Amino acid sequence: MPSPAPAMIDLTDVSRRYGSVAAVDRVSLTVARGSFVALVGASGSGKSTLLRMINRLETPDTGRVTIDGEDAGARPAPEWRRRIGYVFQQHGLFPHMTVAANIAIGLRIAGRQVGDRVGELLDLVDLPRELAGRMPDALSGGQRQRVAIARALATEPPILLLDEALGALDPVTRDALAGRLGELHARLGLTTLLVTHDMAEALLTADRILVMDQGRIVADATPAELVAGQGGAVAQALMAVPRHQAERLAALAR
Ligand code: ADP
Ligand code: MG
Repeated sequence: MPSPAPAMIDLTDVSRRYGSVAAVDRVSLTVARGSFVALVGASGSGKSTLLRMINRLETPDTGRVTIDGEDAGARPAPEWRRRIGYVFQQHGLFPHMTVAANIAIGLRIAGRQVGDRVGELLDLVDLPRELAGRMPDALSGGQRQRVAIARALATEPPILLLDEALGALDPVTRDALAGRLGELHARLGLTTLLVTHDMAEALLTADRILVMDQGRIVADATPAELVAGQGGAVAQALMAVPRHQAERLAALAR
């Protein structure tokens, strides 16, 4: 029997409160190395807070976050984050820096050679190399998100965290980029955690879906299990939209 893949990201009984709000409430979770996990839930359910604790942008009040068994407090935060590529909705590119400088910033901070990396990273996210000299505001929204992904992957982190990274894009761009992310995940051997409020996006990209509600994980299922009606009431409520769309499309095709 093959041994299970070693755990990469592990949360044990993690909580984070803001005043009277339990943003994340006693969450335990293991994300296996090489898996593509989607974290789905309504706005305010605690998805971003959970992701930010993995990246140490937030500190848990209680509980433990580890990567490969190492405690999140074990190293200075910048060093901890070197293993993690992080992309969020508002791309976060530096507006006064070219695409090339934005992509290379992590390499420079780590004291690494930039060399041909910018060109290679543009290739990786399907952007023409000619864009290297442009400023971010001269790009489309989809192009900016691709640059943000290239920047996040520049130092070859084993973990990619995406917080609504596709959320602001038009549906066609979003679909193309979701597909590209799946390819990159497989090709680079990443462990990917994608936060989204869109169940359809989760179903089409992830191999495991966690549903959050009021700070807790209320479902942990594969896309196939969710399509088969499993996962409980909250998960199935989120399934209503993609299910309805699929039914309407099927009816049109008849
Ligand atoms: P999601 O990403 O699922 O929309 P968040 O993790 O951003 O949810 O937020 C979870 C809850 O914690 C919400 O009620 C939100 O208002 C609250 N919250 C998040 N960050 C802060 C903060 N910095 N200060 C106060 N409340 C916060
Ligand atoms: Mg959020």
